[in-house]
Amino acid sequence: MLPADHQYLTYIKKAVRHRARQAGYKRIDPPIFEERSLFERSIGSHTDIVEKELFSVGRKGDPESSDYALRPEFTAGICRSYIEQGMQELPQPVEFYAIGPCFRYDRPQKGRYRQFHQFDFEVIGLSDPSIDAQLIHVLIKIFDDLKILDRLTLQINNIGAPADRITYVQALKDYFTGKERNLPEQDRERLKHNPLRLFDSKEEDTQILLKLAPTLEQFIGEDSNKYHSTLLEYLQELGISFTKNPGLVRGLDYYNQTVFEFWDSSTGAQNAVGGGGRLDFLIEQLGGKSTPAVGFAVGMERVMWHMQEAGVVAPNKDQVDVFVAQLGPEAKKKCLNLVSQLRDLGVHTVGALGEASLKSQMRLADRFQARYTLLLGQLEVKEGTVILRDMAAGKQKQIPFDKAIPEVLKLIGKANLDVYSITDKFGEFADPGEG
Ligand code: AMP
Repeated sequence: MLPADHQYLTYIKKAVRHRARQAGYKRIDPPIFEERSLFERSIGSHTDIVEKELFSVGRKGDPESSDYALRPEFTAGICRSYIEQGMQELPQPVEFYAIGPCFRYDRPQKGRYRQFHQFDFEVIGLSDPSIDAQLIHVLIKIFDDLKILDRLTLQINNIGAPADRITYVQALKDYFTGKERNLPEQDRERLKHNPLRLFDSKEEDTQILLKLAPTLEQFIGEDSNKYHSTLLEYLQELGISFTKNPGLVRGLDYYNQTVFEFWDSSTGAQNAVGGGGRLDFLIEQLGGKSTPAVGFAVGMERVMWHMQEAGVVAPNKDQVDVFVAQLGPEAKKKCLNLVSQLRDLGVHTVGALGEASLKSQMRLADRFQARYTLLLGQLEVKEGTVILRDMAAGKQKQIPFDKAIPEVLKLIGKANLDVYSITDKFGEFADPGEG
């Protein structure tokens, strides 16, 4: 992440934190690496993420071991923490958000990296379509803040209860009995271990066979359908448009009921920006009390890409307000304090405290795109003055040295000073800092 990327990343984090705070989400940071078995038990041993993409970490002294793994996502760690920290005693639902790096071993390509960043939201402790609708709404707000909402479509599906899925998977296996020969090798494996993943197949033969296969919809119970239709009504009430997508299953085992993804409107599934769903059985599966939950994760590099494609210029606060140029040992000494005081007052100040000529320092001020330059040569030191130059206007004036700071503050404006408790335009309260 280079400085230019951070302009976007910081902006994205701001929108995320702002919307999270508005809706009562609390930030959580699960560990970057966990016991490998946590991911196997939650995401599923026969999913791409665990089977092929997990970065294993060995035990000390035994590099061959793979007891631990770098987190490929946040949900498992958050649910483990909920159980271990006794958070079922808190008022429910408990709402969390996380922001940070995740790791997946994959062939690196555009939008697919081995280290990438996610922001993740989870609501634990309550099952109701209004919770799902509100969660999706928060994400819609974030995409809207980042000005990429119109580039995305919300794909949504109901995958029913785990029992519905078990019956369905059996029906799918029955359907494919005798047809295995027509499947490519990889899809035969999928059929054996995780038939739902056949829907992710890009193979034409598989797709043709799937067209006539039984659909999950036919196996979903009444309660589950009722839940889903209520959710869709709530989304409509909130003015959220969506595409019903019966083929959407998500590649992780822990989902039930609601699943959704945000797709690039122009390219479709290939580069989903984010997705999520209900995970009502995960906490119990990990050894906790039966506790429903719902959540989503979004890839920040993909959000960044969309912002850049959409021509969104991330506002950045890295501008140089004042460049301090000096010549001679006396001037240099006086500038040390001047620079420090300006910085303390919230003025972004760069000081060229080297030995270069004034002319080349002025060139440097230009290249830093400084708004003002304070120039202190030997003559000015003797006279107790300083030259203040407005770089854009190309005008300068000589002022008393002790007027330099008040004059600069006036020009920059109090509202533009970068002090720690500054109110930024995203929220009314002091920002708790980047991270
Ligand atoms: P998933 O839960 O696998 O759908 O991942 C959620 C989101 O994380 C995806 O929609 C992507 O935006 C992002 N993501 C997943 N894997 C990668 C990766 N290898 N590189 C970049 N972003 C990723």
